[in-house]
Amino acid sequence: MSNKQILLRSLPKVDKLLEELNHYPEIASYPYFEVYKATNEGINHFRQNILKNEISSYEISDIINYIFRVLKKNSSFKLKRVINATGTILHTNLGRAVFPEELLLHLKKTLSGYSNLEFDLETGKRGSRYSHIENLIAEITGAEAAVLTNNNAAAVLLCLNEFGKDKEVIISRGELVEVGGSFRIPDIMELSGAKLKEIGTTNRTHLKDYINSISEETSILLKVHTSNYHISGFTSSVSNSDISALAKEKNLLSIEDLGSGVLVDFSKYGLKKEPTIQESLKSGIDLVTFSGDKLLGGPQCGVIVGRKELIDRIKRNQFLRAFRVCKMTLAALEYTFKQYSDESIAIQKIPTLNRITESLDIVLKRAEKLHSILSNLKIECEIIPTEAIIGGGSMPDATINSYGVQINNLSATSLEEYFLASDIPLIGRIQNNMFILDVKTIFEEEFEIIENLFKNFLQ
Ligand SMILES: *Cc1c(COP(=O)(O)O)cnc(C)c1O
Repeated sequence: MSNKQILLRSLPKVDKLLEELNHYPEIASYPYFEVYKATNEGINHFRQNILKNEISSYEISDIINYIFRVLKKNSSFKLKRVINATGTILHTNLGRAVFPEELLLHLKKTLSGYSNLEFDLETGKRGSRYSHIENLIAEITGAEAAVLTNNNAAAVLLCLNEFGKDKEVIISRGELVEVGGSFRIPDIMELSGAKLKEIGTTNRTHLKDYINSISEETSILLKVHTSNYHISGFTSSVSNSDISALAKEKNLLSIEDLGSGVLVDFSKYGLKKEPTIQESLKSGIDLVTFSGDKLLGGPQCGVIVGRKELIDRIKRNQFLRAFRVCKMTLAALEYTFKQYSDESIAIQKIPTLNRITESLDIVLKRAEKLHSILSNLKIECEIIPTEAIIGGGSMPDATINSYGVQINNLSATSLEEYFLASDIPLIGRIQNNMFILDVKTIFEEEFEIIENLFKNFLQ
């Protein structure tokens, strides 16, 4: 008999292995069917490896260890924390805005029991889920009223359906954009039942283009903030105040999809000026929509702000019922908006804002700390200047100076592969075949995890 046949014959039977596993106290924490499945998988794995001549001997403990690895992997959560070392602050694939620790404590306190989600504590009767936060949003943005949906795409769809269904909606060709996660204005428009009327050219649209295209059928003048691309050169677009004045004169509505939802004037922090929600409303726009998890720095949702009579109509639209936000979102958004009552607090406490506005000195200190941790592991690495980006379909041209730690003596692809398969995966950036950890998006609490990841990789 060949060694291979001997090995195959010696493989334990499932029952035998299950009995063996019972000697390990940890096994009690896994459901029986998972253990059974993993045991079969373990035996099969070793059988295949013997057949492929990949092993020439094994111990029962090797199979047991393999089974425990499978059990651990299968029982761990599939949606989990990752370390973002890409330098993209609002990374749509990595969950956009990061929640501050205090927000999580607030969620825990609010949601570990029942809540007054739709209960009016003054009357003791049924209430509205939007009531808790509407005044706060109105106060901060300067709007008369507000309502929420589960994302901004839904907010735009809802506005168009309520006010534009079977009517014409006028939009500049230069604003027919596709933004993060395949949100395309023409498609949303079609879904809403509104008829798209494109005007102007890709690079230039004038007020007279709007005036000439208005007909009996027109209901809305729509502006879309082209947040993820930018045309330069011979361009022209019409200001919000001109559009809102024209809408008022012709008895139409003006609506602006701002996308990123900025409440803070970033030019104060040396960044490019982004139109703020307050400014859009001040210029006379009737309704403004934006995302909760982009520059606002809160949970995924869509916010619609504007005139009260219009918001009241939206509240009666049946789509709102389909798009409604859950209590987690409401609690997280209330926490987020509350921070904005003092801009310096918002900048300090909301991670997205903090990372956008922090000084380059602080970033360098973070890079130096990571560099020294990795150097202590005898890794050859160096600090290099990088360009971090805001991302999430915001500020297309605006890069932020940052620093990265570049690993010089380890293969970038091996590191990438190893880090992706880790318990807490690390997503870095590969440039010129070098693995770079951009510290713009790394939190200091994560340094210890990163240290351990590298230690394990080197073993
Ligand atoms: C991001 C964005 C959207 C989509 O927002 P979601 O919250 O992702 O649904 C719509 N319009 C603009 C202009 C955007 O930037």
